[in-house]
Amino acid sequence: MSLLEKFEPLSSIREDLNAHGMMPFGVVTEKILSPTEGMVDGKRTILAGTNNYLGLTFAPECVAAAQQATADEGTGTTGSRMANGTYSGHRALEQELAQFFGRESAMVFTTGFLATMGMVATLTGPGDVLLIDGDSHASIYDGCKLSGADIVRFRHNDLADLEKRLRRLGERTANTLIVSEGLYSMMGDQAPLAGIVELKRKYGGYLLLDEAHSVGVLGAHGRGLAEAAGVEDEVDFVVGTFSKSLGSVGGFCVSSRPELELIRMAARAYIFTASPTPSVVASTRAALRLVAAHPELREKLWRNATRLYDGLAKIGYQLGPQAGPVVAVFVDDREQAIAGWHQLLAAGVYVNLVLPPATPTGASLLRCSLSAAHTDEQIDKILEAFAGLPVAAGVPAPSQARSQNV
Ligand code: PMP
Repeated sequence: MSLLEKFEPLSSIREDLNAHGMMPFGVVTEKILSPTEGMVDGKRTILAGTNNYLGLTFAPECVAAAQQATADEGTGTTGSRMANGTYSGHRALEQELAQFFGRESAMVFTTGFLATMGMVATLTGPGDVLLIDGDSHASIYDGCKLSGADIVRFRHNDLADLEKRLRRLGERTANTLIVSEGLYSMMGDQAPLAGIVELKRKYGGYLLLDEAHSVGVLGAHGRGLAEAAGVEDEVDFVVGTFSKSLGSVGGFCVSSRPELELIRMAARAYIFTASPTPSVVASTRAALRLVAAHPELREKLWRNATRLYDGLAKIGYQLGPQAGPVVAVFVDDREQAIAGWHQLLAAGVYVNLVLPPATPTGASLLRCSLSAAHTDEQIDKILEAFAGLPVAAGVPAPSQARSQNV
């Protein structure tokens, strides 16, 4: 097979997806009307497939901070954190992140992907072990490839499987980094973190937790699953992103391990890329203050998530295992999922179409995500659109569905 021939299978997939009109991957939002509405294909559409969990993308404090920073400091830093790309805002954001999470230090990366990939790849090297959840995000997998460490996967959220693998590692656990996510973005389920921490205590090793989808979403103060599970002291490294609850783009790692400051000098994903722009840094700082000051946003998000989850279950859809800001709706097969996605869009609702192999179980999903900014009326409209799909008529009863799913 020549260099470019391997892409050929993608062309038939693309044709297949294009056959229904709009291509589901790469939809153009022609106009953004609010955190929850946009113009898509010339039509006012409810956005139920963003990671704008707290709806902060239009928060006046964030917008004003970004505008001011651009006016004061320019549109970009044009350099790496290691060279000319560290402004006082980057350092201030790191101090504020460390303070927010109650940790000694923080590193800011240019994207969440780089933060996770960079930390995984830098913390481990040849001779070390990466013990990762099998359903890990691509950034974790890519970090694994770059690290050169031995990769061991445990079954998704399966504590017995994790224990078996830790036991087998014996003394190598001293060189082992366990990697889990807080809230998993495909199914919306949460890691059994208290159990993972208990196993880490029993067998040794270090723990890195990717809280990309859980910061601002879980925990009394929004510090994520580690806070909600009461095990923050046992999580050695927390990585996360600014591109979801915090409404901008960028990533971070926080830790109380003094080595984090040395990792700054070793992480290629931190050193060899330009630092976040002043506007991003400023709006993220403003968003972090809003997360800390407004727990009611989190409460609203969960009320919305429960309303949608319960409503879809009532229609009879098979859903991910627990209610949360990500609600995975299972559809029988890929064709129905593609057709359903188009019908939802025609009804003025945008969700994420997720097809195998992107899904962990090989299922086809119409994946919804909620925002604190959604109104009850919008959620009811999403439910109405789902109820109108032909697949809704044939979906199994919820109890039956749940047992197939977990
Ligand atoms: N980690 C996880 C678990 C994610 O889901 C994502 C993004 N979907 C990332 C990292 C990367 O974050 P970003 O998109 O901000 O680069």
